[in-house]
Amino acid sequence: MRRIEPRVFRPAKGKGKAWVICPAPGTQRLLRDAIGQGRYDAKTRRFVIPWSRALDAAKALMNEHGIVHYSQATTRQTTCTEECWTADPNTWDKCECGCAGFNHGSGMPMGSEVKEGLSVHHERYVLERTFKKGDPWPFQ
Ligand SMILES: [Zn+2]
Repeated sequence: MRRIEPRVFRPAKGKGKAWVICPAPGTQRLLRDAIGQGRYDAKTRRFVIPWSRALDAAKALMNEHGIVHYSQATTRQTTCTEECWTADPNTWDKCECGCAGFNHGSGMPMGSEVKEGLSVHHERYVLERTFKKGDPWPFQ
């Protein structure tokens, strides 16, 4: 029998919801016992849980299955100033801008210009951890 390795995904804050992917029978009951919620969405084949309980759900799933994969997403912002993007591209090593030289001398803002002379680039960033039963749980 194939071992089930559940996944918990916590999106960037503001969505209010997180998701559990776990095909094991009894997952809904497990989630309801652990965090009081866990509606199954047949369309996405995920259990919907409150954003703030994602880690609690992960712990319960780890205890049940011995392992859980946990991902949390956010957006990273990189800023770049006009002084940088209009600079000589050959001076990128002197860049002291938020872009660290990536956009130095390109002639264009990086991402969108949020006000004159300042641009912001948003990048999705996901932190992934695997928790195994028996390893110390790294949280209070
Ligand atoms: Zn820059």
